[in-house]
Amino acid sequence: MDYDVIIIGAGPGGIYAAYELMTRAPQLNVAVFEAGNTLDKRACPIDGKRIKTCIGCKNCSIMSGFGGAGAFSDGKYNITNDFGGNLFEYIGKDEAIRLMEYVDDINLSHGGEGARLYSTANTTLKKTCLQHKLQLLDASVRHLGTDRNLVVLTNLLAELDKQIDFHFLEPVQRLEVLDGAYRVGTKKGTYTCRTCVVSVGRSGSAWMEGVCHEVGIPTTSNRVDIGVRVELPAELFSHLTDELYESKIVYRTEKFEDRVRTFCMNPHGSVVSENTNGIVTVNGHSYENPELQTDYTNFALLVSKHFSEPFKDSNGYGESIARLSNMLGGGVIVQRFGDLIRGRRSTHERITESFVVPTLKAEPGDLSLVLPKRILDGIIEMIYALDKIAPGTANDDTLLYGVEVKFYNMHVELRPNLETSYEGLYVIGDGSGVTHSLSHASASGVFVARDIVARMGGRS
Ligand SMILES: Cc1cc2nc3c(=O)[nH]c(=O)nc-3n(C[C@H](O)[C@H](O)[C@H](O)COP(=O)(O)OP(=O)(O)OC[C@H]3O[C@@H](n4cnc5c(N)ncnc54)[C@H](O)[C@@H]3O)c2cc1C
Repeated sequence: MDYDVIIIGAGPGGIYAAYELMTRAPQLNVAVFEAGNTLDKRACPIDGKRIKTCIGCKNCSIMSGFGGAGAFSDGKYNITNDFGGNLFEYIGKDEAIRLMEYVDDINLSHGGEGARLYSTANTTLKKTCLQHKLQLLDASVRHLGTDRNLVVLTNLLAELDKQIDFHFLEPVQRLEVLDGAYRVGTKKGTYTCRTCVVSVGRSGSAWMEGVCHEVGIPTTSNRVDIGVRVELPAELFSHLTDELYESKIVYRTEKFEDRVRTFCMNPHGSVVSENTNGIVTVNGHSYENPELQTDYTNFALLVSKHFSEPFKDSNGYGESIARLSNMLGGGVIVQRFGDLIRGRRSTHERITESFVVPTLKAEPGDLSLVLPKRILDGIIEMIYALDKIAPGTANDDTLLYGVEVKFYNMHVELRPNLETSYEGLYVIGDGSGVTHSLSHASASGVFVARDIVARMGGRS
């Protein structure tokens, strides 16, 4: 065997699996294969001046490399079972929270100290929400911030690098099941191991699907979330963001009884565009550095859609809607809320006259020509509901950017210990369809590392 354990992917899932193996069973010979670059060599060419939008690099530095997809995010680490994944369905709610707290401790001891922990416990905002048919989900949020997040990752890499064999810029192309072992193939060679942990995240979804198909691991379709990103003056949401930083609020629409929820709230942030396989969608960021902050807060309003029979391709549905918006707007479309409810498109003139200055250069247009009526009606209803707890949300000048789509990986069929039907082959993190957050993905890595240590020997 070349290695005892091979980990595929160096996102939070892979990093924390490696960290736990290194500390609990230092005698094990562990390698990590990562399609992207080491941390200090990850650089997105968009500089806002010469290169303004995504140029579709072969290896996307935002999604790939040490730290995975969230490396350049502002690192909102949510400790909760209410959102961010279904890890608790496999390992139990108490264990899931314990592991998220354990990872939080490691983050703090590796450069994260000083990061504020926000919590919904004891907040009166919960009651205010309920009074207006809104549900505030329970969570503790450690807001690391972009800069601190990178410090934590840098420190973790320095520590791991002493003991773990990292193979950067070496995407795994093949994964073969041998008799009691696994062989991974890259363009540089083949490597065997006794145990393999696959943690390839969202960017590795197509590859993961291929592997499951090839070796006969059953998968099922997941949901897709479709909606818009809302941008408004930061003061309007400051009572929520000052106390909770990010609030996950759910609304059940009166018309269709659909659930609409807030997602990824960025106080004093910027709206950004995102290119996934040539499809431009919208997202949001915020920085801890006051110089990079804006006067606006942005968040997504999303509706989940899950197709099963006969049409199964939830992601394909989301992609088609995003493509339609790209066709009409050449990229992201922006519309004033006032224009949307009056049934007219936004124009450059109306946007220029607006009190809200867009933080993303997007094409003024009409989102009602893009989003299905049911989804759009739900979003409009929710904006009016939010207006009751944050008056001004439904102002005419509130900006809506579209479309925002959250794609999820298919669910890989796994045992309660996150192992496939093949002994010693684990699938964790967002690539498994089980998690979709930094905290759940990291916790899943720690969990399988402990399972492996218990099986292979070491301090479990
Ligand atoms: C812009 C942005 C901001 C975000 N902000 C937050 C946030 O604030 N809070 C939060 O909870 N979540 C956030 N997320 C989501 C979060 O980043 C993910 O849920 C998390 O990173 C998932 O971890 P993972 O290890 O499962 O996968 P990933 O982080 O996606 O890592 C997978 C790694 O595997 C590598 N890989 C893929 N295929 C292969 C292959 N064949 N061979 C070798 N390597 C491969 C990839 O290059 C990647 O580095 C954000 C995501 C994005 C894109």
